[in-house]
Amino acid sequence: MQKDELKKYEDLLLKERQEILEDITELEAVSQSGSLQERTGEISSITTHPADRVSDSIEQEQTYNLATMEGEILYQIDEALMRLRKGKFGKCSKCGKPIDQKRLEAIPYAELCLECKRDSEMEMEVEVGYFREEEPEE
Ligand SMILES: [Zn+2]
Repeated sequence: MQKDELKKYEDLLLKERQEILEDITELEAVSQSGSLQERTGEISSITTHPADRVSDSIEQEQTYNLATMEGEILYQIDEALMRLRKGKFGKCSKCGKPIDQKRLEAIPYAELCLECKRDSEMEMEVEVGYFREEEPEE
């Protein structure tokens, strides 16, 4: 890959990294400040009943999952930046073939080519399907 191309992807990665860091900071602020109701202060403690607490915990869990997902992408971006500096950027880490440029433009931190990505997704589906099959033994 040409130097100016690498620079383009480095810029993309750094930009995305910055956006994710901002997202994570925001999510942390949300999870630390409690539920939406507590933040807005519209509802007093008198109206708090168990159903509210359940939805609160779901909301917090969703925030947590989102933060985990962002963290995962952040990790992948850091890995991609490392590959970029080592001159390994743009190659599939599984089969070693160059990753499609269009794919890299959409997901600059992509580690696998489309083919290998499809393969690994199929493997995952097979695994999930396997665990879901809970037929009772006779
Ligand atoms: Zn591949």
